[in-house]
Amino acid sequence: MHFHILTIFPEMVMAVLGDSVTGKAIKAGKIEVSAVNIRDFTNDPHKKVDDYPYSGGPGLVMQAQPIYDAWESVCKSLTGDVRTLYMTPQGRTFNQEIAHDLSKADDLVILCGHYEGVDERVLDEIVTDNISVGDYVLTGGELPAMIVCDAVARLIPGVLHNDSSADTESFENGLLEYPQYSRPETWKGRSVPPVLLSGNHQKVDEFHHQMALLRTRERRPDLIEKYNLSDDDIKFLQSHSSSDMIL
Ligand code: SAM
Repeated sequence: MHFHILTIFPEMVMAVLGDSVTGKAIKAGKIEVSAVNIRDFTNDPHKKVDDYPYSGGPGLVMQAQPIYDAWESVCKSLTGDVRTLYMTPQGRTFNQEIAHDLSKADDLVILCGHYEGVDERVLDEIVTDNISVGDYVLTGGELPAMIVCDAVARLIPGVLHNDSSADTESFENGLLEYPQYSRPETWKGRSVPPVLLSGNHQKVDEFHHQMALLRTRERRPDLIEKYNLSDDDIKFLQSHSSSDMIL
């Protein structure tokens, strides 16, 4: 997977994605990240990439020309259908399902807006997916782009230390993940649930599933409503409350 991020702040993007798990994945050749500076493509002698909106109104708008030329410079080396994401509060709200869908692409081009946004004509020309990270407005598309890259990258085989760790995580099977514990066995008078020390994998799996059910019902009842509960799940939820979480 190659992420091509069209931005006016390439250093910001590389500083974050070049570190930690994504940074290791880049070094190991599991993913590639290129931050393409839109300013490098402007025809303006002062390197300007924005101008006043027609019809007046507040703020500045990113212009079509430098964005289109930056996009074209990336796309000319790509083969097949190009998926171009525009990070925008007006898009589909990003989630794990969209992350899985995007992880199938070989290349993702991601456009980060700024100021009041981007000239609509270039968006009409290049964008295949409008993606939001939530119902709030940020100053720029870089943080949203990094969220998408991080969430997608960790689904690429070999990016995580243990690929199977992504399988049990929240949202993967429609539930939130069960609570996790590490050493010591007792901390500030709180003990690890004894079943986790039993070595009985079947019982541990059952316990994890039950804790995931309780946690999801408590924190995200909307997910429990959509989840295909078995008869045993229903019986369990009817006879337990969230205070039974730490057994
Ligand atoms: N005027 C735009 C509107 O009302 O929809 C908001 C522009 S915002 C200040 C500047 C840029 O930040 C946007 O072009 C977009 O790239 C990015 N952005 C802001 N909030 C976002 C969000 N919730 N999700 C994704 N991108 C966002």
